[in-house]
Amino acid sequence: MARNLDSYRRKRDFSATPEPSGDKAAPAAERTERFVVQEHHARSLHWDLRLEHDGALASWAVPKGIPPDPAKNHLAVRTEDHPLEYLEFHGEIPAGEYGGGTMKIWDRGTYELHKFPGVEGGGTFHGERLHGRYVLFHTRGKDWMIHRMDPPEDPDREPMPTRIEPMLARSGPLPQDDGRWAYEIKWDGVRAIGYVDGGRLRLESRNRNDITPRYPELRELGRALGAAQAVLDGEVVAFDEDGRPSFQHLQGRMHLT
Ligand code: MN
Repeated sequence: MARNLDSYRRKRDFSATPEPSGDKAAPAAERTERFVVQEHHARSLHWDLRLEHDGALASWAVPKGIPPDPAKNHLAVRTEDHPLEYLEFHGEIPAGEYGGGTMKIWDRGTYELHKFPGVEGGGTFHGERLHGRYVLFHTRGKDWMIHRMDPPEDPDREPMPTRIEPMLARSGPLPQDDGRWAYEIKWDGVRAIGYVDGGRLRLESRNRNDITPRYPELRELGRALGAAQAVLDGEVVAFDEDGRPSFQHLQGRMHLT
């Protein structure tokens, strides 16, 4: 039987949200445990890790996503157990309802439980994006940490740089193919380096001041990149089009890790 779904149900109005109520009887325990990671575009973006256990889904909200590297643990906040049907859930939770926003399935698959998170535990994940051994350990209150035990899946992976030097203009030879003239558009805006990690954008000026709060329009860029990490070196440019309010645009070189 599903366990501890009271808190899950109390927070939701099932006549208003398409989420499952968990009323259906849980199937008999299976040998293979399943998991899902949902990318939840709620008020703040996070990833929900849910592990099948005892007929329900033990759940954690992971604000920065599942760490791909053992060098950095991520916070995982324990949330209420969810019904097994939530393994398949994706869609729109209406604004104003608990967890309102878009829920996408980021990955799903099976995992082998090594020791269930009570004080500490983990498993080996077999998903499409998530492979390898992870442990979850409790720190305090509802706070846990998730740690990757295996080396990064990509052996060439390097941690994302936290500081890069902005690329500066320098004089060079003209292209040889024509030789008579050449031009390059000069975008006139504000030079910025954007660091995107865990769906969050941090912008630094050329003088390395944090200018993130100045460009709330660019926050969406972080969400758009989801779990990808990126460093964007470019220029923040405002365009006016068809008399609509100008918007900000970040263009430049891109470093994906
Ligand atoms: Mn969530």
